[in-house]
Formats: sequence, C-alpha cells, structure tokens
Amino acid sequence: MARKKASKKTEGRVVVIGAGVAGLTAARELLALGYEVVLLEQADRPGGHVAQWYKLFPDMSPTAPILEDLLSGVREAKLLCGVEIASIGRLGDGFNLILTSGTAISCSAVLVATGFRLFEARRKEEYGYGVYDQVMTNQDLERWFATGQDPRITGRDIRRAGFVHCVGSRDEKAGNTQCSKVCCITAIKQAIELKERFPQAEIWCFYMDLRLFGKKYEDFYIHAQRDCGIHFIRGRVSEVSEAIDGRVIVKAEDTLSGRPVKVSLDMLVLMSGMVCNPGIHALAGSLSLSVDADGFLRSRDNILHLNDSGQPGVFYAGAVTGPKTVPETLAEARSAALAIHRYLRGL
Ligand SMILES: Cc1cc2nc3c(=O)[nH]c(=O)nc-3n(C[C@H](O)[C@H](O)[C@H](O)COP(=O)(O)OP(=O)(O)OC[C@H]3O[C@@H](n4cnc5c(N)ncnc54)[C@H](O)[C@@H]3O)c2cc1C
Ligand code: SF4
Repeated sequence: MARKKASKKTEGRVVVIGAGVAGLTAARELLALGYEVVLLEQADRPGGHVAQWYKLFPDMSPTAPILEDLLSGVREAKLLCGVEIASIGRLGDGFNLILTSGTAISCSAVLVATGFRLFEARRKEEYGYGVYDQVMTNQDLERWFATGQDPRITGRDIRRAGFVHCVGSRDEKAGNTQCSKVCCITAIKQAIELKERFPQAEIWCFYMDLRLFGKKYEDFYIHAQRDCGIHFIRGRVSEVSEAIDGRVIVKAEDTLSGRPVKVSLDMLVLMSGMVCNPGIHALAGSLSLSVDADGFLRSRDNILHLNDSGQPGVFYAGAVTGPKTVPETLAEARSAALAIHRYLRGL
C-alpha cells in the first residue's frame, strides 16, 4: 500500500510498539535505512519473552548474547520502557500517540510488534497448576534454567518428570483451537536440558501429535529419544492427582498401544501455548485493525502482505499475528522494515 504524500514534520519517524525481538530487529533495520525510531515498551526492560528463555532451540544457543546483539543495534533509537499508550490516532498523513505520562509523539508510520501471551495454565484445572507444588509451566522451567531459583526444583533430586503438550492449544474448551507451533520442540528442548541436569531422571512427554517442522528439529527429536531415553507417549493426560509420598500421579491413555498409563512424577511441566495479547485490542480498535477469530491481529493476507495491516501506515512484525519461532520473527521484522521503507518512499 504506497503512500501518496508525506508530512514534512514526521516523515522520517517511525514508532515501534513493543521491544521484543521483533521490535528490536525492525528498529535496527529502520535505523540502518535512515529513519528516526521511537521504541515503546510496556515492560521495564526490552527483550520480550525471549529475555525469559535460557537457551534457544534448535541449536541450544544461549539467549543472552543474542539479546545483547539486538540491543546493540538500537542504541540510536529512542527506547522508552515502562510506558503505556493512552491514545493513538491519525494526524494528517501520519499518527499522533499520547502516553499515559502525557508525552505526545507524532510519526509517519507505526509498527505493531506487541507479541503474544502465554496461556494461563490455571485455567486447565485438571492439571493442578497452582494446586500441586510439583506442577509448573514451560515458562517457570525456563526461569529455573536461567536462575536456578525455584522452590519446586532447587535442592531436589528429580528422578521422574513429565511434560504435557498442547496446554491451552488445540483445545476447544480453552477457546483456542490453533496449534501453538513452538511447544512440541520446546518440550523436547526442555526435556533434554532437564536430563543434562538430572542424568538419572526418567522423562515422559505426553503428546497428541508431534509437530516438528523446522530445520534440525527431527535431529533434536531423535537425540531426545535415542541418546536421552525420553519416552514419548501419544495420548492426552486425563487426570493429575497428588500421591501420599508427595509426587504427582499422572494418568493418560497411550493411544498407540491402547493401554492406560499411570506414572508418579517428581515434577510435571505444562507446555502452555502462545495465545493472543488481548491488551492490544483497544489499540486495534483505535486504528481500525482487523482481529482474527483467535484474537491475533489479522494481516492484509497471509502470503504477500504478512506485514501489512491493510490500514495505511500500520505494519506488523512477529508473534502479534500468530505463534512464531525466533528466526521467523526476525525474518518478518526485517521484511516489515522494508515494507515501511517502501511505504514512506511511496515505492
Ligand atoms: C516457552 C517458550 C519457549 C520458546 N523458546 C523458543 C526457542 O527456544 N527458540 C525459538 O526460536 N523460539 C522460541 N519461542 C518463541 C519466541 O518466544 C517468540 O518467537 C518470540 O518471543 C516472538 O517475539 P515478539 O517480539 O514477536 O513477541 P514478544 O516476545 O511477546 O515481545 C513483545 C513485546 O511487546 C511488549 N508489549 C506488548 N504490548 C505492548 C504495548 N501495548 N505497548 C508497548 N509494549 C508492548 C511486550 O512487553 C514485549 O516486550 C518460545 C516460546 C515459548 C512460549
Ligand atoms: S506445537 Fe505441539 S504441543 Fe504445541 S500446540 Fe502444536 S501440537 Fe500441541
């Protein structure tokens, strides 16, 4: 969607909403293209969800240097953390934003890079999150890998652990029928990391289908099975309860063998899915942006115009439009910067 005429005052300024890896990458590219960039971040630090992950699949790359690299690329941007947008609207050819602090910012284009939320595991009561001390989420486990601090694991000898796939994804009752795309491979990543820390541990993954589509993912899966001895059970967990010895008892049906499975575990990890960030629906309303049935923002189309909102001057990057891996997010963010450049130059 080419722009006809640019307002002189704000021609070179782009506001990027969200300083996760999508926002940081797009900001870096926009700076390189000569634009002035204002990065608005709600949290008190940039990095988004990735700042909470310890290592990234499929190479087990440590996250810290990746974030350092991304942050070093936005030194020239104006990065405002801990901010809330009070209002946003069109002003001439561009936009005017007002922050709750009262600061007003005008710009010629807006990139929405507000990412996703993790499904609230408590909503799946049958899995006992928040009820049994041995039950945690994928996010909790990442935090423990990074900090070593979590009373559910620290100081304990984990001998038996389980991972439940599709928590809050592909689940009509949870209101989300979509696949979260990253949690099968994340479960495998985390199971391998757990095995490295507790070599004696026996680990089970309870899955509906294994969706492992990316480069090297299959190798990762084979490594988990063959070298780490992780058991993969195809079947939904039907019940989680607490045993007298303090472990949790997990019941499922192995749908491949047709046999019921019952294991008692020292810890159970729920693979909470990626769901939409409902916090941006007000912003979507102000800018007349379309929202998909699953609550993620809808691109103009899903082939040629993934970065394009369909509204002049408003663009998307990353998990704001649906679940994505980090490499997909970074690629999309670079293409968003190019789409904004083309729009602002009327190309
Ligand atoms: C448990 C788990 C582990 C994962 N591990 C991997 C992995 O190993 N490898 C991999 O490739 N992918 C992994 N992923 C996927 C990865 O987390 C996403 O690809 C990535 O976080 C998407 O980045 P993003 O910037 O689009 O969104 P986010 O990371 O969600 O960042 C969005 C940013 O926008 C901010 N924001 C939101 N609303 C506003 C607002 N209104 N105003 C201002 N700021 C706002 C947020 O605070 C946040 O900083 C994992 C996902 C999960 C759930
Ligand atoms: S990626 Fe795997 S665990 Fe996640 S929703 Fe899809 S099938 Fe379920």
